[in-house]
Amino acid sequence: MRIVLLGAPGSGKGTQAKKLMDAHNIPQISTGDLLRAAVKAQSELGQRAKAAMDAGELVADDIVIGMIRERLNEADTQNGFILDGFPRSTAQAAALDDMLVELDIPLQKAVLINVEFGNLIKRLTGRRTCSACGQMYNVYFSPPQADGVCDRCGGTDLAHRADDNEETISNRLTVYQEQTEPLVSYYQQQGKLASVEGEGDLDAVFGRISSALAA
Ligand SMILES: [Zn+2]
Repeated sequence: MRIVLLGAPGSGKGTQAKKLMDAHNIPQISTGDLLRAAVKAQSELGQRAKAAMDAGELVADDIVIGMIRERLNEADTQNGFILDGFPRSTAQAAALDDMLVELDIPLQKAVLINVEFGNLIKRLTGRRTCSACGQMYNVYFSPPQADGVCDRCGGTDLAHRADDNEETISNRLTVYQEQTEPLVSYYQQQGKLASVEGEGDLDAVFGRISSALAA
């Protein structure tokens, strides 16, 4: 199974990727992780990537594509892969397609996990973490039994991350939507888009993804 996974921050994409990895015995290829590993290993691509990042530039598409290509040589991609965080533009999507077709492992589906904007905001702004024991809550969806008190340890400091404020989150989501819309059209035109309702229970969402992939 060779797929690209698309989903906004707060869409549950990470959790669903994990479930897909386990169910299909395929790795998740995150371009962020690939970049960090290549820079650390000082490979040729890593050195080029580091030079770009040190200069405050974006890492060129051909470098990232080269890293994905190298990663696809590893044995664990025999059954396929889940690409996460790439592509972010239609130019990158086209370059990715070219590379995969050349390797004779064309992309099969782009899975979009759809969650309504207002719900994403609640999922992200509602997060709280107990500063004593690390237990996580969401004030909208999974609040502690007593307001402001940790169920697990009784701690009363349920902290809100500074970058979880509504304005920052709303900006992140807007950037995500602007980036993703052209990709959605791109994969739709190819007949490869599987758009899945991301609201509700994690297992229900996973069931919908599985049906969409089997279709
Ligand atoms: Zn606690």
